[in-house]
Amino acid sequence: MDQTLLRDDAWADLRGEVAKLCAQFPGEYWRKLDAERGYPTEFVAALTEAGYLAALIPEEYGGAGLPLSGAAAILEEIQRQGCNGAACHAQMYIMGTILRHGSPEQKKKYLPEIAAGRLRLQAFGVTEPTSGTDTTSLRTTAKKEGDRYIVNGQKVWTSRAEHSDLMLLLARTTPRDQVSKKTEGLSTFIVDMKEVLGKGLTIRPIRTMMNHNSCEVFFDNMEIPAGNLVGVEGKGFRYILDGMNAERILIAAECIGDAKWFTDKSVAYAKDRRVFNRPIGQNQGVQFPISRAYAQWRAAELMVKDACEKFEAGINCGAEANMAKMLAAEASWAAAEACVQTHGGFGFAEEYDIERKFRETRLYQVAPISTNLVLSYIAEHVLGMPRSY
Ligand SMILES: Cc1cc2nc3c(=O)[nH]c(=O)nc-3n(C[C@H](O)[C@H](O)[C@H](O)COP(=O)(O)OP(=O)(O)OC[C@H]3O[C@@H](n4cnc5c(N)ncnc54)[C@H](O)[C@@H]3O)c2cc1C
Repeated sequence: MDQTLLRDDAWADLRGEVAKLCAQFPGEYWRKLDAERGYPTEFVAALTEAGYLAALIPEEYGGAGLPLSGAAAILEEIQRQGCNGAACHAQMYIMGTILRHGSPEQKKKYLPEIAAGRLRLQAFGVTEPTSGTDTTSLRTTAKKEGDRYIVNGQKVWTSRAEHSDLMLLLARTTPRDQVSKKTEGLSTFIVDMKEVLGKGLTIRPIRTMMNHNSCEVFFDNMEIPAGNLVGVEGKGFRYILDGMNAERILIAAECIGDAKWFTDKSVAYAKDRRVFNRPIGQNQGVQFPISRAYAQWRAAELMVKDACEKFEAGINCGAEANMAKMLAAEASWAAAEACVQTHGGFGFAEEYDIERKFRETRLYQVAPISTNLVLSYIAEHVLGMPRSY
C-alpha cells in the first residue's frame, strides 16, 4: 500500500483530537487577542495539558515521543482550524538542542519539566539587530568568569520572551578574530529568564502587524551558571543548525494548514455569494486563483511529506526542509491572497478572520529564514553554484 496514505491514516485520529481542542478557541477568541496584542494563555495551556507541545520529547522524559510527522500534523491542524500555533510552536523544536546536545543532567532537569508544562521553553535568542541573517556576525558575547558566564549584548525578534521561563541563547564565547572559521566560537546556553529578569536581562515587546508577542532583549552583565552551557563551548552554531531542518518542516506544515483554511473559506464563499444572479464561483476569474493556490499547496504538501520522511529516516533533508518551507509559505500566501480577493470587501472585515490570517501567514516568507536565503541555499548547496556571501 502507498506509504503516504498509510501515514496520513496514522495521524487522522490525532488531527481529529487537535481539531476538537481548537473548536474551543473560535475566531472571536483570536480577534480579541489580536486587537489587544494579547497572548493566548488559555489556548497554550490547553495544548500543554493535552501533551501536544511535548509531542517530540521522548517518552522516557515524559513526552509523547512522536516522530516529526506527528508534530507536523498537530501544527498543521491548529492552523487549519483558524488558530495560531505561533504562540507556542517553538517549544516543539527548541528542546531538540537540549535533547541532542545537552548533558544527562540538563536533560533530566529540563525535559520532564517542559513535558509536564511546568517550564516553558518558548524563547529562541539568535537574531540580532545588526547581524540579521548573517548569524555568525552576531555581537552578543558570553565571557567565562569562574563558574559563570557574563553575557552582554542584544537580541531582536525574540518571540514569546515574556511568556517563556527559559531561553535558548546563542552568543559568542571566542572573538571572531581568534577563530579559524567564523562558525566556530559561538556557544549555546539555557537561560533561566526568571532568575535574571531585572538583573541583567531586560525584555521590551515589539508591536508588529500581526499578534506575535515578539520582543527585543537586552543583556547587561547578565550571569548564567557555567552548567547552563549546552554541549561543548564554541560549537553552538552547529547545534543551532542541527535544529533548523525540524523548525523549517514544522513551519511549512503550519503554512499548509493556513493554505487549507484559506481555500476552504474561499470555496465556501465563492459557492454561496451571488452577484449578477449567479454564484461568484461560477466565474473563472474567481475560480482560477483559488485553483492555482490549491495546486501550489498540494505540491508543497508533498515536499513537506518528503522532508518529514527523510528527517525521520535520519537522511540529510536540508534541501527538502528548505524547499518545503519556501514552497509552503508561498502557497499559503497565494491562498490568502485569493481568499481576500474572493471575499471582496468582506475580506477586509475583521469578523471574517481572513485579514487576520492574511497578516499572520505573511511572516513565513521572512522568518525563520527568508525566501532569498532558501534560494541561495539551493543554488549553492544543492546545485553547486559559487557562494554569493
Ligand atoms: C515576527 C517575527 C518573529 C521572529 N521570531 C524570532 C525568534 O523567535 N528568534 C530569532 O532568533 N529570530 C526571530 N525572528 C527573526 C527572523 O528569523 C529574521 O527576521 C529573518 O531571519 C530575517 O533576518 P532580518 O530580519 O535580520 O533580515 P536581514 O538579514 O536584514 O535581511 C533583509 C532582507 O534582505 C535579504 N537578504 C539579506 N542578505 C541577502 C543575501 N546575501 N542575498 C539575498 N538576499 C539577502 C533577506 O532575504 C531579507 O529579505 C523573527 C522575525 C519576525 C519578523
